[in-house]
Amino acid sequence: MATRILVTGGAGFLGSHLCEALLADGGDVICLDDFSTGSPVNLESLLDNRRFTVVRHDVALPFQLKVDQIYNLACPASPAHYQADPLGTVKTSVLGALNMAKLATAAKARLLQASTSEIYGDPEVHPQPEEYWGHVNPIGVRSCYDEGKRCAETIMFDYKRHHGLNIAVARIFNTYGPRMHPKDGRVVSNFIVQALQGKPITIYGSGLQTRSFCYVTDLIEGLRRLMDNRRATGPINLGNPTECTVLALARLVIDITGSKSRIVHKKLPTDDPRQRRPAIEKAQQLLKWCPAVPLTEGLGYTIAYFERRLSDGRRERRVSAAKRANGQAAVPA
Ligand code: NAD
Ligand code: UDP
Repeated sequence: MATRILVTGGAGFLGSHLCEALLADGGDVICLDDFSTGSPVNLESLLDNRRFTVVRHDVALPFQLKVDQIYNLACPASPAHYQADPLGTVKTSVLGALNMAKLATAAKARLLQASTSEIYGDPEVHPQPEEYWGHVNPIGVRSCYDEGKRCAETIMFDYKRHHGLNIAVARIFNTYGPRMHPKDGRVVSNFIVQALQGKPITIYGSGLQTRSFCYVTDLIEGLRRLMDNRRATGPINLGNPTECTVLALARLVIDITGSKSRIVHKKLPTDDPRQRRPAIEKAQQLLKWCPAVPLTEGLGYTIAYFERRLSDGRRERRVSAAKRANGQAAVPA
């Protein structure tokens, strides 16, 4: 019998790639999403699949279903999005984790929680191993996400200790790729869209802060290996350990796109982590996993995606304008 798999946040950037990969492997996939930051556009290629179901639901509200596996990804991930409704972010993280843990316990399902490198805060240990407890401001603008995700990890481990729940906690580091929203606000999508549109590339602060960028297919493979290794509990870091400054990323994007955009510096957001790089020895040993797509190659795929998406948007807007001029109903862009 096919495995029944629930993916919360399945209409988002990572969730849609995960649903696609699980369907390709023959699973029955249920995508639960409230479409707050995700989009039906991300699911277009999956909707005809008879093994795919979409449920519009807020993960912060109880939900019941008989499933074998749950990937709990529902949560806004871009700082701009999670800070726009901070209390909503806390509810999504904490109540979502509680609801999914309850559901998984009742269904005897394995539950994978999408945690984040943000639980390390502005790290004083570099690179960050799983043993590091982090350096997090509990009352700052990023806390709704950081502390929400830390509490979600706590919930997982207490459910394991007290209810025998089979859990896996993945600490995901910065991941990028096709299906990021053009207005998502994260650095890779911002820089690519700005470069393609010939607009200034906005570097926050000096640009000397670092991140380590993982291509989406690598990350999805890591999540699936973790789910399939039933003895692996985690927390386990998943990310690409090749570190680069934000300034270097900007120059790379300008280089690959051949853009004439200039670089401008804007104010550094509060509590912006200065450095980030995953220690991935655990994932390498336990999951035999290592990212394979170098940054230049992954950026190439992502830039090609945004080129298509932006030109589709321009075409749709032209058709709408022409229809409006002819007095016909406008097509939403
Ligand atoms: P995303 O914003 O593209 O996707 C999140 C999805 O969750 C969206 O489809 C959104 O509509 C849905 N969602 C949000 N709140 C919800 C709620 N209350 N109920 C139901 N659905 C809800 O972000 P993403 O990059 O795909 O991130 C997915 C998960 O991975 C998140 O949990 C995020 O914290 C984690 N993560 C991502 C990264 C990354 O670099 N992409 C890094 C670390 C952790
Ligand atoms: N950043 C930037 N310009 C942008 C968007 C982000 O310089 O237009 C910086 C941001 O300040 C941070 C890094 O890029 O230092 C990564 O930001 P992102 O929002 O992608 O993710 P984070 O790792 O901070 O959650």
